Amino acid sequence: MEEILAINGGKPIRETFLSYGRQWIDEEDINSVVEVLKGDYLTTGPYVKAFEEAVANYVGAKYAVAVSNGTAALHMACYAAGISEGDEVLVTAMTFVASANCILYCGGKPVFVDIDPKTYNIDINKIEEKITSKTKAIIPVDFTGQSVDMDRIRKISDKHNLIIIEDAAHAFGSEYKGKKVGTIADMTEFSFHPVKPITTGEGGVVVTNDEELYNKMMLFRTHGITRDSELLSENHGPWYYEQLELGYNYRITDIQCALGLNQMKKIDMFVEKRREIVKKYNEAFNEIDEIVTPFEEEFSNSGWHIYVIKLNLDKLKCSRKEIFEVLIAENIGVNLHYLPVYLHPYYKKLGYEKGLCPEAERLYEEMITLPLFPKMTNEDVKNVIEAVKKVINYYRK
Ligand SMILES: *Cc1c(COP(=O)(O)O)cnc(C)c1O
Repeated sequence: MEEILAINGGKPIRETFLSYGRQWIDEEDINSVVEVLKGDYLTTGPYVKAFEEAVANYVGAKYAVAVSNGTAALHMACYAAGISEGDEVLVTAMTFVASANCILYCGGKPVFVDIDPKTYNIDINKIEEKITSKTKAIIPVDFTGQSVDMDRIRKISDKHNLIIIEDAAHAFGSEYKGKKVGTIADMTEFSFHPVKPITTGEGGVVVTNDEELYNKMMLFRTHGITRDSELLSENHGPWYYEQLELGYNYRITDIQCALGLNQMKKIDMFVEKRREIVKKYNEAFNEIDEIVTPFEEEFSNSGWHIYVIKLNLDKLKCSRKEIFEVLIAENIGVNLHYLPVYLHPYYKKLGYEKGLCPEAERLYEEMITLPLFPKMTNEDVKNVIEAVKKVINYYRK
């Protein structure tokens, strides 16, 4: 039996719109923020340090530097890596623009590497052919939450003397070979935007085991200013500070970090819920020939930031755009992650052209992101599955 699609006047699968991702804030989170508002520090206070320690401990890294957002964190990492005019930095094509913009902020040149069509992560076999004498660093992205094969990235990077900045904005709580993502790269960045694994409203962090990188990042976060007597060239008195580098004001607030610290108590529960939902999705969609469900490597235990399906368009009577619009009409908040970065007009103006990364471009034509967040109810999950089945049944060849 074929049901009438909502877009054709039928009854939508659900009455209210289900967004593709959202935060989970409870009373305790709210109270933790209110406490800070009543206290002495709104911006840099005890909660920034406590949150950084909690994040570093959780992933097993020595140091963490929290900043105002994940993009600032990537900028800070590129700065600490010493990226400057003329340097080339390798980055995957299938990612959010921030993964490449941070290279441009430092005057470097993003060199896009195509993706592995199975995992959608950077194709490790295509990295070495892109390395030149100017290559300084690599920014692998744990797309959807699945870790890149970091041991292989580490091997190539050591051979060619590259600094690894892992963009793990999707992967806080994800595991690689049984360990939390965040200790293999020289610097690993996480984002705390509301759709990410935990939230501080806006926020980001870089974790590292390297003291020198840590010190550079701490300077960069507040204008390049220091009060450390060992670093000062002169010392005029107790009020005295000096600006040593051109940093920024990328500070995160105690208000945000109190929320982040309380969210940390729930990270494992959040990740567990995401994994349960993905299991249900995979079971339902593996039976549908028109859909390719996410492939997960043996070494990965993803925290699943997003759930991306690929459509087998040869078996459908319509385009991806139609499936997308029809699902929206059913009140299922689908999304799309991402247009390959270099296809944005800004990057085209810089000289990048279509055809650069064919696998990423192909995936872009076939992919859809389905709703996934820990607070989804069983009913929400059922609605998504029903809606996808309804739509695929309708458009099946
Ligand atoms: C979210 C995200 C970032 C950082 O984003 P902010 O909104 O600045 O915290 C960076 N890279 C990727 C892949 C992301 O998804």
